Amino acid sequence: MEQVDILIIGAGMIGLAVARELSKEFEDVVLVEKEEIFGRHTSSRNSEVLHSGIYYPKGSLKARLCVNGVKKIYQFAKENNIPFRNCGKLIVANDEDELSILEELKSNGENNGVPNLQIINESECKILEQQIIAKYALKVPLTGIIDSHKLMQKLESNAEKNGAFIVYDMEVISIDTLADGYLVKFSNGEVFETNKIVNCAGLHSDKIAEMIGINIKHENLKLHWCKGEYYKSSKIKNIDHLIYPVPDPNGVFLGIHLTINLQGEVRFGPNAYYVDELNYKIDELYKPEFLKAINNYIKIDEDSLHLDDCGIRAKLQEEGGEFRDFYIKEESEKGFPNFINCIGIESPGLTCCLTIAEEVKKLIKI
Ligand SMILES: Cc1cc2nc3c(=O)[nH]c(=O)nc-3n(C[C@H](O)[C@H](O)[C@H](O)COP(=O)(O)OP(=O)(O)OC[C@H]3O[C@@H](n4cnc5c(N)ncnc54)[C@H](O)[C@@H]3O)c2cc1C
Repeated sequence: MEQVDILIIGAGMIGLAVARELSKEFEDVVLVEKEEIFGRHTSSRNSEVLHSGIYYPKGSLKARLCVNGVKKIYQFAKENNIPFRNCGKLIVANDEDELSILEELKSNGENNGVPNLQIINESECKILEQQIIAKYALKVPLTGIIDSHKLMQKLESNAEKNGAFIVYDMEVISIDTLADGYLVKFSNGEVFETNKIVNCAGLHSDKIAEMIGINIKHENLKLHWCKGEYYKSSKIKNIDHLIYPVPDPNGVFLGIHLTINLQGEVRFGPNAYYVDELNYKIDELYKPEFLKAINNYIKIDEDSLHLDDCGIRAKLQEEGGEFRDFYIKEESEKGFPNFINCIGIESPGLTCCLTIAEEVKKLIKI
């Protein structure tokens, strides 16, 4: 049986960032991942946007960790030669009702500490983005894009350099509590004894919490999977900013937006619908919804829009439910000391990976 001090479960963006952060200070850190490589799930199936923090309620973890996280990640990318671009974003509005939503977003963003937000008019929009249809736009200069694969590579290599062990093909199947620690079993028959566990299992993080005996229904920690698909278009070129509509009024997603990647290629999405199955298959069922949404801010015809990819969000917010914050907690109160849950790490999780890792470090009890 292996003895380890800190066991981190899940090598997505969050588990990798946590492994890097904890291995700066602690010696015996092991990260286990059920797949054969890092980032096979949500962390490689997202928009790769570095968010500014304008959307989330003041005082929420999402707001605090995003506003600080975006600055940290730009700095980290600069220091480590990770490709990124601080391209900025425009949230566009086409009537007075939408303008009032922009005004609310601007004030929310300012309350959260997002700098340099500005509402601009139609002619100012045209100067920035000739092809975009908008009467008004909220300009968010802090937003950007990053190469998320390179970011994960760097987090992995930093963690290993600090002395952390990362082991792939290791699926946790059960966790038992011991007098002073935990006994973790894996599908390949291996067994680890550990003092501390950090649960970064993304879409399965509620199941990991359940393994230890937390009643996830009772604690309101059941995850609801919400799929989002992307389309691409090679016909649209020369866009400099990310273009977003005003967000979905139910707060489920940010609206079908236009992103550019580091090569300047254009993608649209994601949409949002709840699913029960972890299935990355895609078809064109939602193409009409995409066409309608996109044509509100840029003209595109059906033939120029091609199905691209999809991701699945790990949401604590259920269908029709209220805003839910990230759940990042040390579970002594529930009887599980040094068991740290990271559950519901949906967007802006990528932007927050470094600040989530710092938050986790603060929760470790020595
Ligand atoms: C469509 C979409 C778009 C998004 N866009 C953005 C964006 O533009 N900007 C932004 O900031 N955020 C965005 N996000 C959010 C961001 O991608 C996530 O917050 C982040 O990737 C979550 O990382 P994670 O490490 O928690 O999860 P994951 O990447 O899913 O990693 C969890 C890991 O745990 C492993 N695991 C699970 N169970 C076990 C087990 N039993 N044993 C061992 N390993 C296990 C899994 O295999 C997986 O590798 C988006 C998300 C989606 C779905």
